[in-house]
Amino acid sequence: MAFASVELAKVGPLYCLRLAEKRWGKVTTDLNTIVLVKQVPEIEKVRFDYEKGRLDRSSAGAVINPFDLNALEAAVQIREKIGGTVIVVTMGPEKAEESLRDAIARGADQAVLLTDPEFAGADTLATSYTLASAIRKLGAFDLIICGEKTIDGDTAQVGPEVAELLGIPHVAFVEEIRDMDQRRIIVRSKMGREYYLIELTYPGLITVTKDVNTPRLAALRDKIRSRTTDITIWHTKDLTDVADKEFYGLRGSPTWVAKIYAPLSEKRRAQILKGTSEGVAQRIVQALRVHKILR
Ligand code: FAD
Repeated sequence: MAFASVELAKVGPLYCLRLAEKRWGKVTTDLNTIVLVKQVPEIEKVRFDYEKGRLDRSSAGAVINPFDLNALEAAVQIREKIGGTVIVVTMGPEKAEESLRDAIARGADQAVLLTDPEFAGADTLATSYTLASAIRKLGAFDLIICGEKTIDGDTAQVGPEVAELLGIPHVAFVEEIRDMDQRRIIVRSKMGREYYLIELTYPGLITVTKDVNTPRLAALRDKIRSRTTDITIWHTKDLTDVADKEFYGLRGSPTWVAKIYAPLSEKRRAQILKGTSEGVAQRIVQALRVHKILR
């Protein structure tokens, strides 16, 4: 031990960093965090267009997806603890710039808007491809933080898909950040009634639930500052060196929407079956056949 400290004292902090990298993987002094945010309609105000079978987005204002505010808050708290940069990225129409300015007012350092008619009509895979391509173009990062899901699409697929496309590990449904430093983060991930305590070494991605923190409100001075902050805007032509445009938007989407409708809400009818175990089992099987759940 004494030998090691003499050696380290002789060669200085850079050597310490290299030694640590060799032993434990990449070590960063500041943490580069990317937060993915989606602009969504204010869900309590939005109307459904039954004729066209889609949300009438013009009927309501647009806000940052609530879970993404938790993602942003987590990133800002991390920067406050150990330093670094927080970059927010969104894919959406030009109007999504409003959400990026809101994110800057709430603590993000930089913002990137991915907007282009060719990105439109994207399913979750094409969305994730576009976001992952932009992240590649941004260069070195340590941690990506997403919301667990959105309140409009609600698939919870984008976070894990982005991680897969970038070839990095991910942890979904993080409800608590237990500990973290420049090398790794320890999180508690909620899985139904169970939870996992996971250590994730950078680079990696987490998706967070609303329990992870309470998002801060933007101060007036930060709202004013955010109005004049530069926002990077990338179109398809800006991503040509990192992406293939065959995978963007509608063209790059292997799924499509056949029909959208509001399901009729039916009241559940409970039935208590009495009798012997065998008799009850037979009646359950019969009921499942009647309802075509069993053949
Ligand atoms: P989730 O997977 O639930 O989101 C998880 C997290 O990923 C979010 O909390 C956020 O951190 C991140 N994230 C998600 N989306 C974005 C984003 N855009 N930018 C940055 N971060 C993000 N939507 C349209 O607006 N126009 C269309 O024309 C359109 N066409 C579609 C066609 C098909 C066939 C399908 C299946 C979907 C279409 N959608 C369209 C919906 C679109 O695919 C989803 O909005 C998008 O993929 C995100 O999915 P989600 O909302 O379920 O996100």
